[in-house]
Amino acid sequence: MVSKELLEKAREFHGHVCPYLVLGLRASEIAFEKLGVRERPGVSETLGEELVAIVEANNCFADGVQVATGCTFGNNALIYLDTGKTALTLFRRGEKRGVRVYVVPEKVESLYPPRASELWRKVVVEGRGTREDAEELDKLFEELGLRMLELPESFFKVEEVSFEEEVERAPIFETVKCSKCGELVWKPRAVYVDGKPLCASCAGVPVPAVLGRGIVASFRIPFRVIGR
Ligand SMILES: [Zn+2]
Ligand SMILES: [Zn+2]
Repeated sequence: MVSKELLEKAREFHGHVCPYLVLGLRASEIAFEKLGVRERPGVSETLGEELVAIVEANNCFADGVQVATGCTFGNNALIYLDTGKTALTLFRRGEKRGVRVYVVPEKVESLYPPRASELWRKVVVEGRGTREDAEELDKLFEELGLRMLELPESFFKVEEVSFEEEVERAPIFETVKCSKCGELVWKPRAVYVDGKPLCASCAGVPVPAVLGRGIVASFRIPFRVIGR
């Protein structure tokens, strides 16, 4: 079962306790058990990107996975596949096998009290909840999350996966200086105009972005530095 200590770490990282955050913690724990991982990766494993987690949606679940597995957006041991499913796949580099833990929403949602579903719709989906509604939802979600700390494996679909080829590691890119703003930019990201390197902002070109709706291939940079 998920420890209170891990739950508190997750609360600190995610900002609140909610069902899908706890599902991320619990799914990670199940994946650790199946893979025989005893503890969260330490310095050498995270530096070497030895243990890799794949998530398939950027929702609360993904934060639970990051806290529990130590595979994060920034340490390149987290891969985000934008399939729109709540699932974790965990594997060790060098092994051609891993484990995929999928949340079965039909089963999980049967645990939701009707009031929580109603408030979720009002506060989150429709954005018309009052402060009291948000607080009540937070309380119900926390209670639900706490009940999920020991959620049986039957609420998940657990499968073995195999890898055809090795998953690439994060490359180390050279940087170049943008000839307009002077900021350093990864060389493959630079845009060359008249032979001079420009960053995407200065070149005014759209870039791929991770937004709430997932990975967007071409997104216009939404800000401009004042005075530049
Ligand atoms: Zn959440
Ligand atoms: Zn620039």
